[in-house]
Amino acid sequence: MKKKYRSCNLIQHGLCFFNDSLVSCCYSPVDQINGQRPPALFDGYKGEILSKEELFSRIDKFASVFRNGGTPVQCKDCYKIEEKEWKEDDNQYIDFVTVTHYSNCNADCVYCSNNLCQEDRTNDTYKVYPFLKKLKEEDVLRKGFELHIGGGEFSIYDECDELIEEFALTEYAKVCIATNAIKYKENIAKALGKNNKVVISLDSGCRETFKKVKRIDAFENVVENIKKYADADKEHLNLTLKYIIIPTVNDNLNEFKKFIELTHKLGVKFVSIDIEARYSRSVNHRIDYYYYELFKKMKEYAEKSNYFYGVFVHSFMEQDSEFMKEFENKPIKKLVSRIKTKLNQKNIHKLYTSHKY
Ligand code: SF4
Ligand code: SF4
Repeated sequence: MKKKYRSCNLIQHGLCFFNDSLVSCCYSPVDQINGQRPPALFDGYKGEILSKEELFSRIDKFASVFRNGGTPVQCKDCYKIEEKEWKEDDNQYIDFVTVTHYSNCNADCVYCSNNLCQEDRTNDTYKVYPFLKKLKEEDVLRKGFELHIGGGEFSIYDECDELIEEFALTEYAKVCIATNAIKYKENIAKALGKNNKVVISLDSGCRETFKKVKRIDAFENVVENIKKYADADKEHLNLTLKYIIIPTVNDNLNEFKKFIELTHKLGVKFVSIDIEARYSRSVNHRIDYYYYELFKKMKEYAEKSNYFYGVFVHSFMEQDSEFMKEFENKPIKKLVSRIKTKLNQKNIHKLYTSHKY
């Protein structure tokens, strides 16, 4: 049975593991703009193994608000809300899981959200594997569900092998792994061969810029590891190198050209371009025209090279398509000169100096 109303797939079928709670998603633009958190299913969560009934009764507290024509306050204005026919029965399953409850890392990126945490980076956190395994055994996690893993650095997280072996190598889930590639992990290479996705944010095309972004001198080592991952991705469909535009750090076309050249040499076919989230949030996603302009040039440059299958952009378009339209319709030169006075380099730079390590 189906019923038409406004809702979101993740409120009924999503789970996201934070270090201090179990929530529905990690998407909420409400969270990004007002510091408001996504719907919390279990505050103070520490790896508790919930029964199916308990889990869905917690989910239903929020899902029922949508079903009854309302919007949970945590979801207000979220771009993921859509009006469509939603299943009323056989809907007690999870199809999208995000694991982001650990923070330890062997890099110290200028933009890392963990730099702003009060706690030290640590792997000393609760386990997610036992609960996920149980959900799989109960068919709450069905074959083909999406598992996104990020947080700290996954290759040094202690459930890394268990999660990859249970869900990626068996092809039970479509697993998307974020890694900085400082440490090479055989299981990540094997996962690439099994049609899972791996994303590496390189954000640079040379050692000096890499050091500025990651604050570790490991460029050559990372390049070597990317080459091994690229070789493991035989169809060249599963490995993406990402370039996050970081104001005042790597926001120029020359660096991007070096990045593209390197990507070409390594045999990686997918690149993704994004704007750094801390900056984007600090301006309420009203990103300076300069970055749109730069993004367009980068995109054109990448597309000109026949070597690439595609360019993906995340927070640019999705979050503010009206603004993008306005941008598209105005003469670029005028807009760019406007931002030259608007852009406060000193303030932006401050965004990237607070870190504990
Ligand atoms: S509507 Fe937005 S905030 Fe609410 S569950 Fe969906 S993605 Fe998360
Ligand atoms: S690779 Fe960078 S962004 Fe990712 S967890 Fe480590 S320091 Fe943070």
